[in-house]
Formats: sequence, structure tokens, C-alpha cells
Amino acid sequence: MTSTIRRALLGLALTTVIPICAATAADPAAMAAMSDAEKEKIRLIVKEVLREYAASMKDKGHGGASDILREIAQNNRKFVAGHGPEYFKPFLEGQHPRATVITCSDSRVHTHALDGSPDGDLFMIRNIGNQIATAEGSVEYGVHHLHTPLLLIVGHVACGAIKAASGDYSKESPTIQRELDTLQIGKGDPGLNSVKQNVNNQVRTAMGKFEAEVMGGQLTVVGAVYDFRNEMKQGQGKLNIINVNGETDPAKLAMLDLIKGLNAPPGKSGAAKTSAKSEGHKEGH
Ligand SMILES: [Zn+2]
Repeated sequence: MTSTIRRALLGLALTTVIPICAATAADPAAMAAMSDAEKEKIRLIVKEVLREYAASMKDKGHGGASDILREIAQNNRKFVAGHGPEYFKPFLEGQHPRATVITCSDSRVHTHALDGSPDGDLFMIRNIGNQIATAEGSVEYGVHHLHTPLLLIVGHVACGAIKAASGDYSKESPTIQRELDTLQIGKGDPGLNSVKQNVNNQVRTAMGKFEAEVMGGQLTVVGAVYDFRNEMKQGQGKLNIINVNGETDPAKLAMLDLIKGLNAPPGKSGAAKTSAKSEGHKEGH
């Protein structure tokens, strides 16, 4: 509905409803004398104005909760219908994820870009700026209690948290400010370089925190950038690994056994799924 119509309705309400209401409020006899047709006309005008008001709030992004909740419920019904008891059986009694993953909360970054069947496989931690400082206990839980052999830290292009942290965020609420304070990046560059800098910072923090596990070979810390805009020219939607246990030199990274074969096209031997667990999950779909 256009703002012109809204203005017209508001005008109608101001010129018709309010004077009538004012007159009838001041004079109960006038109210009683009002015909049913007049009352009905007022009711309809008020209803339409309220409906338009609700629509204008929705235009501003304040509405739509019922629509999305309905879709979520519908998707969940499909999920329930498509997944029998066999699907849930492997992780009914406990979880044995293979990776602790820290990503940004950004809605454009999701597990399906990393794992077609993440259930029971990825221990996910999400916050603004994919950081350890604001979710330290959760990260510790994944590494110390669930003993995941991989800690994967995923930054992403066009990150709002990085953009905010690289500028003046003094007008944000104190709680948001606290979560931006812990992103130790330079000022003035809101883009990819700062995203990478933050990922490298997080890897360094993890290396210090889990030094014993990394040195003992029980944990590998990997930093990556999820590129849904193809800013790194490696493919849109590509997860680009930029840091392994503190090593950031691309030439040295390419030499690591961990990295070799990772970029082989799907279907080729290098990219073939080697995990029986992953295959087992696939069967459940
Ligand atoms: Zn982000």
C-alpha cells in the first residue's frame, strides 16, 4: 500500500472520525442518536487505519514474525517427516562432533556451506565477529570436553561486526560495544584485510589457550574466510583457509598434508568423503 493511500486514510480519520468521536464523547445523546450505519462507517474507517498502520510497521521491518514462524514450523514438519528414528539414533545418547566451529552470527553464513549433514558432527559457536573472547566457555567445552580434533574459526566477507569495530562504534549500546571491544583490529579498513586480521587474531588466541593440545597433536586450529561475494576470486561461497596453527604463508600452507588435495574438484579422489560417519548421515537424508 502506498504512502499516498495511507495519508488519505489518515486524513479521512482526522476529518471524519475524530470530530464525530469528539462530538459524541461530549454529548452522550448524540452518540445514542448516531445511526447504526454511521457507527459501522466509523468502525470500518478505524479498522482500515489500524490495518494500514500495521502494514506500515511491517514495511519498516517490525512485522512478519508470524510469516517466518509459520515457514519455520512448516520446514520443521518436513524435517520431522523426512527423518525417521534411524537418523537420530547415532547421536541420541551423546554427541561426538569432529570439529568445534566458531562462525559469525551473520545470516549469510551457515553450516550447510561446510557440511551437508552437520548433525552430531559440528559443535557450533556463533557470535558477532566469530570470536573466542565472547564465547570462551563454549569453545573450551568443544575442545576440552568433546575433544574435537579440529577447531575451525570462520570469518566472512562483508562482516558487519568487523566494519563496526574498524570505525567509531561509541553510539552502540554498552553490551554491543563490549562485544566489539574484543575485536582487536585496526581502524579505517572495514573490509577483507580486517576480516583476515581478526581470523588470525582468533587463531593466535586459540593457540595460546590450547597450546598443550596443539603441541601434543590432539588439536589443529584452522582459520578461514567464507567468501559469499567472491572477493578472494576463489569461487563464490568458497571457504578459504588462511591460517593453520598460526602459519599464514600461502606457499607454506599449500605444502601442508592437511591442505593438499582440499581443492580437488568434487568427485575426484582428493575431495572424496573419507568419513564413514559422514556417509552414514547422508543415508539418513
Ligand atoms: Zn559477521
